[in-house]
Amino acid sequence: MNRSRLIVIVLFVVAIGAFFFFDLGRFFSLEYLKTQQARIDAWYQSNPALTIGAFFAVYVAVTGLSLPGAAVMTLAAGALFGLVTGTILVSFASTLGATLAFLASRFLFREPVQRRFGDMLKALDAGMAKDGPFYLFTLRLVPAFPFFVVNLAMGLTAIKTRTFYWVSQLGMLAGTIAFVNAGTQLARIDSLRGILSPGLIASFAALGILPLIAKKVVDAIKARKVYASWIKPAKFDRNLVVIGAGSAGLVSAYIAAAVKAKVTLIEKHRMGGDCLNTGCVPSKALIRSAKLLSHVKRSKEFGIRAASADFDFAEVMERVQRVIREIEPHDSVERYTALGVECIAGIAKITSPWSVDVLTEHGPKTLTTRNIVIAAGGRPFVPPIPGIEDVGYVTSDTLWGLRALPPRLLVLGGGPIGCELAQCFARFGAKVSQVEMLPRLMIREDPEIAAMVEQRFRAEGIDVLVNHKAKRFAVENNEKVLYADTAGGEVRIAFDLLLCAVGRVANTAGYGLEELGIPTTKSRNVEVNEFLATRYPNIYACGDVAGPYQFTHTAAHTAWYAAVNSLFGRFRRFKADFSVIPWCTFIEPEVARVGLNETEAKEKGIAYEVTTYGIDDLDRAIADSEAHGVVKVLTVPGKDRILGATIAGEHAGDVIAEFVTAMKYGIGMNKILGTIHIYPTLVEANKYAAGNWKRAHAPQNALKWLERYHGWMRG
Ligand SMILES: Cc1cc2nc3c(=O)[nH]c(=O)nc-3n(C[C@H](O)[C@H](O)[C@H](O)COP(=O)(O)OP(=O)(O)OC[C@H]3O[C@@H](n4cnc5c(N)ncnc54)[C@H](O)[C@@H]3O)c2cc1C
Repeated sequence: MNRSRLIVIVLFVVAIGAFFFFDLGRFFSLEYLKTQQARIDAWYQSNPALTIGAFFAVYVAVTGLSLPGAAVMTLAAGALFGLVTGTILVSFASTLGATLAFLASRFLFREPVQRRFGDMLKALDAGMAKDGPFYLFTLRLVPAFPFFVVNLAMGLTAIKTRTFYWVSQLGMLAGTIAFVNAGTQLARIDSLRGILSPGLIASFAALGILPLIAKKVVDAIKARKVYASWIKPAKFDRNLVVIGAGSAGLVSAYIAAAVKAKVTLIEKHRMGGDCLNTGCVPSKALIRSAKLLSHVKRSKEFGIRAASADFDFAEVMERVQRVIREIEPHDSVERYTALGVECIAGIAKITSPWSVDVLTEHGPKTLTTRNIVIAAGGRPFVPPIPGIEDVGYVTSDTLWGLRALPPRLLVLGGGPIGCELAQCFARFGAKVSQVEMLPRLMIREDPEIAAMVEQRFRAEGIDVLVNHKAKRFAVENNEKVLYADTAGGEVRIAFDLLLCAVGRVANTAGYGLEELGIPTTKSRNVEVNEFLATRYPNIYACGDVAGPYQFTHTAAHTAWYAAVNSLFGRFRRFKADFSVIPWCTFIEPEVARVGLNETEAKEKGIAYEVTTYGIDDLDRAIADSEAHGVVKVLTVPGKDRILGATIAGEHAGDVIAEFVTAMKYGIGMNKILGTIHIYPTLVEANKYAAGNWKRAHAPQNALKWLERYHGWMRG
């Protein structure tokens, strides 16, 4: 704890301690006020300014220190100064005192609470940022909530001080007037409770709820306003039109058909989208072939004296296409038609909140629909580096047409896609240079995890060039080159083929967003609210186009919300839950994660403990000659609550499933430890990590006593 905080705490403790030690509370009772009223009155008549000043200062101190007595002082204000002056005085003094208490709470407690409960506070802060003033107003109006608790609790949220001040002053006004007015009749009051009759409390509560109801009405009016310039059809042909038949669009359409809605799915290119055609499926098929080659190279490690593989890169790429064809029926027009989805091949364009035009090979069509789900996906981002068009490039979209292995491949980008493909091509025999401007590959992962990957990549012959900022491309003497800036100056890297893998951007242009005024975010995704609705309450977006994650499983996850909220939102809407999102990069060592890692916990100021288990010690990993990697788990300090897990090692993407379930259902390390894991499996690594956590949290004192007990039993 820093010094200034300590000083403030000491001052508070001394002031509050003195109040109770000297029993100052007796001066703030109704009886005392009544007996002293004549004296105070006389004093006020002879020293009006001083009395007002002293009253104001004491009121601010009492509320600022959250001491009991404000109610009696409010009555006193009525008795002494009358309704108008009393109300003005109390209104300002109480608001000032409340704001001081709010600021003190923020200064003393927000940071430690943020550190410990950062994730929970995030949701609260988001709610406060949106509707904070309304909540505060309600809390102020309904006297059932003690004001000092409201002050202290609000200090823990991100509400602005200015907002807190004016909403408090406004919200407390009705109660203040009621109390000050009662104070003008002091002689007739027997107890504080009598002032607030049940009827009065009910009126305040009604007043408090009013702004919330008003907000709902305003929201409804706003929602209607966005439709004002559009003509709504009298009838709709469909309940839902889904744009894009990638992972997100397919799942949305599937759900709609399953609940018997009339749904049309429009795809301009290939059913299955990126995942099937240019993403997960081809990349994983390629990785499998590359892994086989790496095992052949490592044959000695498995006790095989010599092994060799004769292969043709073109045949490997043909296998990739065969795999796609084998999976294709899962995403096909035939399958979805049989499920009850109308599938149209064509380019969709939203022309109004209720109509979509489709350009098919047989001509244009106009569809009317109650709801629209945008699932238009994304595409590789190609940075505008000078000369890039001159040297030419492939991306994850076009790479699959290659049939000749490039002798020297330059991979631009150290993210998951760049890493997966760099390792593949190196294993096929290309000389791979991987250029990344940041200080490490896989920047989202913890440094030691990235270091494991870099070490393995280098051992496999990949030239890992981190801290290299691509500056310009050129063709020199028929050779393609990249000039990159490094700390040591400019370097020149020659290559035969450039693979651009620096990230992906959402498809947001050319299909009606501009015309409908649907905004995009800073990260260039379609802007959606927590229910995944765009600014039009009947138009939703999901998958890569909406973000924030770019995975097939998150596309499917968000598709559920988009479909269900669009079809049934008038009854109930569901907020998209992004609390437990796992992912995996399918390199060797495989790197999988769910929840927080250490880097993020530090960035967000969330307190954590780390437990690790080295997979080099795991029987199955040793038997498989894959004894490398780590299970790294973050937990809440002193508590059995998992904040996140990262696993690097063989089949990490499968092994992490246990932590995903644990986090989703609030299961801790004790339960993982108490679960029987099959021997010998890689998943046992999770149990051993839980064992390490348990050992670190063993009750040392109890163990000392046990040691004594056993000694005593031995005699
Ligand atoms: C190389 C690579 C490897 C990957 N590996 C993995 C992995 O291992 N695991 C994982 O979870 N994710 C992986 N991903 C990411 C995953 O592929 C995407 O997150 C997922 O495909 C997103 O699905 P989507 O439905 O949002 O978009 P998409 O699959 O892009 O589908 C969008 C569809 O909309 C269509 N469309 C767009 N505009 C229109 C229009 N106006 N009219 C009609 N149709 C339109 C497009 O043609 C496209 O078919 C990988 C991606 C790449 C590139």
